Order: sequence, then C-alpha cells, then structure tokens
Amino acid sequence: MRIYNTLTKRKEEFVPVEPGKVKMYVCGPTVYNFIHIGNARPMIVFDTVRRYFEYKGYDVNYVSNFTDVDDKIIKKAVEEGVGASVVSERYIAECRKDMEGMHIKPATKHPKATEEICGMLEMIATLIEKGYAYAASDGTVYFRTRKFKEYGKLSHKNLDDLRSGFREIKVTGAESKEDELDFVLWKPKKEGEPYWESPWCNGRPGWHIECSVMAKRYLGEEIDIHAGGEDLIFPHHENEIAQSEAANEKTFARYWMHNAFLNVDNRKMSKSLNNFFTVREISEKYDLQVLRFFMLSAHYRSPLNFSEELMEASKNALDRIRTAVGRLGELAESASDGETTQEEKEKRDEILAYAAKFEAAMEDDFNTADALAAIFEMVKFMNTRVSGEDTKTFITQAKEMIAKLCDVMGLVTEKKEELLDADIEAMITRRQQARKDRDFAKADAIRKELAEKGILLEDTREGVKWKRA
Ligand code: AMP
Ligand code: ZN
Repeated sequence: MRIYNTLTKRKEEFVPVEPGKVKMYVCGPTVYNFIHIGNARPMIVFDTVRRYFEYKGYDVNYVSNFTDVDDKIIKKAVEEGVGASVVSERYIAECRKDMEGMHIKPATKHPKATEEICGMLEMIATLIEKGYAYAASDGTVYFRTRKFKEYGKLSHKNLDDLRSGFREIKVTGAESKEDELDFVLWKPKKEGEPYWESPWCNGRPGWHIECSVMAKRYLGEEIDIHAGGEDLIFPHHENEIAQSEAANEKTFARYWMHNAFLNVDNRKMSKSLNNFFTVREISEKYDLQVLRFFMLSAHYRSPLNFSEELMEASKNALDRIRTAVGRLGELAESASDGETTQEEKEKRDEILAYAAKFEAAMEDDFNTADALAAIFEMVKFMNTRVSGEDTKTFITQAKEMIAKLCDVMGLVTEKKEELLDADIEAMITRRQQARKDRDFAKADAIRKELAEKGILLEDTREGVKWKRA
C-alpha cells in the first residue's frame, strides 16, 4: 500500500510501527457551531482510509479529538451568557449526529481538550526541563522554536522564510517572547474565561499541545498516520512535530496525510468567508450518502469544488449502484439453487478482477475516484451478465461483492426509506401542535410513526429532542 507523505513529498510503501496494526490520529473540529461540509471532507476521507485498512485486516486504533476550549467557543458562550462547556457539548452532540448521518464510524476514542489538561501540563513541564520551552514573566509558556533543529521539515519551510512571514503579522503577546518564531504552549487566563491552575499561571493551553498529548496518550509516542486538512500543515502540524519529538525524542508520525480543500467557486469553504453549507443544511436536501459519494468522487489530494450539478450527478450514480443491488436481490429471491456452473465460475473471475482493480486504486494512495470507477465497471458487468438464469448462490455472492466494496467507501447499497432531518422536524412540529390542541391520539400516532422509522423522541425541558435509533 502506498501513501503520499507530506513529510517526504513522495508516495511511500506503508510499513506500520507494529505489524497488523494502524495507529492513526486525525485532527478534529473546534466545536463552536455546526460543522460545515469542508470540515466533513477530512472526516469522510480518513474514515474511508480507516475502513480500507480494516477491510485489509488491520486492527485500526483511530483517534480524533474535539477542540473544546478556544477563543471562538468562549466568544459564543459569552454572547449566549452560558458557560463554554454548554456551547462545546452542544456542538459535540450535533457533530456526532452529523457523523452518524455521513456514516462515519465513531473513533476508537474522541478525546476532548478540556479532559486532557493534566497530560498537557506534564508535556509542557518536560519541554521546559529539556530546554525546549520557557515561561515568560507574565506566565505565558512558549516553545523555543529555534532549538528544534528540524523545525519546518513538514511544511518544507526554512526558518528565515518563516521569520519574514512573521514580521508581516502582528502576533499578540509577542512582546514577551525570546524569538518571534516561538509559539504558545500555555497562556494566562483573561477575565471571564475558563482556566486551569498551572505552575506558570492560571490559564489555558495553546491549541497545538492538545494533539501531541492526546496522540501520545491514546496511541503511543510513535504513530503511523497523522492526518487533517492541508491548512493544518503549518503551523499546527509543524508545531505538533516540534512538541512531540522534542518531548519524546522519537519520530512522532511516520506518514502525514493531508486532504485538499473543499471549495466554493474555487475558494476554500470556510466560516470566515461565509461561503459555507453546514452538513445539517445539506441533509435537508440530500441523503448524506450522496454527500459522501460526492466527497469520494475526487482524490483526497485534489481540490474539490462544491456544486449542485456534482451533487445531482452523485445522487444519480449512487442510485445506479443501489438499483443494481436491488435487482440482484430480486433475482436471488426467485432464482433456484443449484451447482455453480462453469460459466458462473468464469464470471466470478471477472468480478474478482474488478475487485482487484478497486484494491489497486485504493492501494495507490487511496484513489477513491478510481476505486468508484471500478465499482461502476462491476455494476455494469452485473447488470448485463448476471441474470435470473444464474444460481441463487452466485447471484447472492455477486450482490455481496458490490455491497462489500461499497461498505469500504462507507456507502450503503440497500435502498431504505430514510427520513430526512427536515421531515423529522416537520413531524415533530405537527406532534407539538396536536398536543397543544389536546389531540393526544394524533400526537401518539406521530410518535409511533417516527419510532417505526427508527426515530426516537425525548421530551425534555428544552423541548423535544430526537435521535436515530
Ligand atoms: P477546524 O474546525 O477549522 O479546525 O477544522 C477541522 C478540520 O476540517 C481540519 O482538518 C481542517 O483542515 C478541515 N477543513 C476546514 N475547512 C476545510 C475545507 N474547506 N476543505 C477541506 N478541509 C477543511
Ligand atoms: Zn491537531
């Protein structure tokens, strides 16, 4: 299996730290709002990477964090007049719902920054002890960037380029730094902000330290894959390498994988440009499987432009797969049992050749676009070459083969009547109205109808909450 490594700028053969195991860490979202579909790209891409490793028999330990302490979260909490954790917990719950909708497997562990402060204090203390960090007079702790000789190795920048870059931006707190390249590990609290006690000051961590600490705690000092969107290469991942390798004196991650941006009109989709769609908005219009298909229709290192046309094309393509699988299901039901024929054996070989093509695409740096193309060739073959004349066993195997490969992509092949979020919300509104009108029979009937479709309601003080069973 070959993976493009941002560190070496080459595709490299995958050799795990421990045979048969994959330890991967994917930087997760900062939880101050609903996630947008740009944030969904790394989630879908790296979930697919994970699924492929699992398909190949690897035992994958997949860790992805929630950044739940950050300026934006605090700002939102102040605006709402609630504690920061009210905001972060709300959006963690919403993010989990979106992930489920996109058929993203829960990580082995989803650590939260606020629950890992202890480990951060420890690593910062180690860095100070080793001379890689220092506390300024106001209690801010900085990483001594110049001391880490390999700084810049991931982003392929040299320190002088960085220095001139830094001059152009005004960095707050820069007054107390020894060097303008130094970055924050721990910073003093401001009035009204959440804080933790530390030997240096009451305060909170810088952003980068959390990932170094969580990766170490849940995966070990040396991991296989560290991943995220390409905007994280610098400074986030560069700083993570500096912290982890200075503290642990070991190579942090063997392979650094970065997805390209999801764009709108060729500009990065982002909250700050206000050109984003949340996953929740998309779910009102499309089955999120369509979004997943759309994301995988391009190679993860190619920019992908969001458009209605591409979403429609993805919807049709996914339909084609599902229709083919539905047809095979019907054929299998009415087909008779019997010995596998010679002709079937030959057809099976052809089907296996498409599966091999699928694997070859995935093993070439997870080329999901080519892998989907191989699935389509297989679908076409089955539409034309598998018929009611074939045995039940053969037809069933053919159907299962498509389903298995689609499952690696996180795509569900069974057509199911799934309610869209918007439909659910509308039914809940109707139920509320029925209750107001004291038409309890109607309200109950709506609850029952939702339950039959796998939607569970919970009446809480804050209103009705729902979840998919
Ligand atoms: P954030 O919450 O901004 O830290 O982002 C969480 C993840 O989403 C990171 O891996 C980002 O690199 C990624 N990300 C954010 N915007 C985009 C985008 N438009 N396209 C692809 N990835 C993105
Ligand atoms: Zn990170």
